[in-house]
Amino acid sequence: MRADQPEIATVAVLGAGTMGHGIAEVAAIAGYDVVLRDIDAVIVEDGYDEIEWSLEKLAEKGRLDEDPDDVAARVATTTDLEAAVSDADLVIEAGPEQLSVKQDIFESVDAAAPADALLATNSSSLSITEIAAATERPESVLGLHFFNPPVKMDLVEVIYGKATTDETAQRGYEFIESLGKTPIYVRKDVRGFVVNSVLGPFMSEPAWMVSAGEATIRQADAAMVHERGYPMGPFELGDLTGIDIGYHVRTEAGRPVPPIMAEKVENGNLGRKTGEGYYDYDDGDGSDYVPEDSEGFDHRRVEAVMANEAAKLVGDDVATAEAIDTGMQLGAGFPEGTCRRADDIGLDGSIESTDGAGIGR
Ligand code: NAD
Repeated sequence: MRADQPEIATVAVLGAGTMGHGIAEVAAIAGYDVVLRDIDAVIVEDGYDEIEWSLEKLAEKGRLDEDPDDVAARVATTTDLEAAVSDADLVIEAGPEQLSVKQDIFESVDAAAPADALLATNSSSLSITEIAAATERPESVLGLHFFNPPVKMDLVEVIYGKATTDETAQRGYEFIESLGKTPIYVRKDVRGFVVNSVLGPFMSEPAWMVSAGEATIRQADAAMVHERGYPMGPFELGDLTGIDIGYHVRTEAGRPVPPIMAEKVENGNLGRKTGEGYYDYDDGDGSDYVPEDSEGFDHRRVEAVMANEAAKLVGDDVATAEAIDTGMQLGAGFPEGTCRRADDIGLDGSIESTDGAGIGR
């Protein structure tokens, strides 16, 4: 940090939804004064209530060093954007995931926040560069991508837009460390950043294999969980996050969609939220695969395509292998980093397994 940069003392969080109130809570626990802002008084008060509830739970479990009321007292609420950011050293935007909405917010923030404030977005998929373009100070804008729920999840991706300076990124990185969380640098704002980029093939490659009749859903899930130690099977995870989410990410990136994924979306079977996806949650037993289902599944193909994605990120100077591995373990609960596992499989194995398979999909 340069001597003329202020210490971060006051954090404004814009958006009091799922992520906003969680980020505000984490910052308050770390001792920062927080202003939580949403467009509607009821929403912002609901967010504050969530913070109080969560702080009580943490205190009950002995995971809070302070009285929860004292922590909550550091959080102020408002619906007035100018009031929220006018004294902020750091602004973290956690509004809806729409570029035009975020650009509107950043334009207003630019007009009202102190000249030396750090301006961050919690976007999970939008371009930091395009969001920053709504301001006159894109060099001070960065991504701070928290994972859900922020109170539990340790990882935060610290993402550069094209104009973000090293100093801005470093201040963001140090702020995340001060929360007791683990930051990783994502040096270019590639689609999906690091964790979601590598998670993409974890879900799509098995979907290609099932679409081609080379595997079954239960076989893939059982193999990845029971043989390879992942916390969830790729199809189980797709059902949890919503099959339409992965579908839209791929179509928006201009990438082909595995037929089984497209078919589920076309039929409105989007996963748990609709009662049926790859598994049936309403009339069936949900993700009912068992260890024996795994037999014969070629897991190397999935891990090789993930390794390929990770190698692309390293090769394009987006992230180091260490950052990717930390990201996959803390952000996705992987048992081992993707780069380390690629080393274990061996490069020869990876090349052989991806031959004619997922590369470029
Ligand atoms: P959410 O819908 O729960 O909350 C968004 C909030 O923003 C709402 O309360 C809404 O009233 C408010 N809002 C709308 N316009 C606003 C404005 N102009 N100023 C301030 N607030 C405004 O959404 P969320 O799940 O908390 O996601 C917020 C952001 O975090 C998105 O960019 C999302 O992509 C990202 N994110 C979400 C997750 C997740 O798992 N939910 C994880 C990581 C990142």
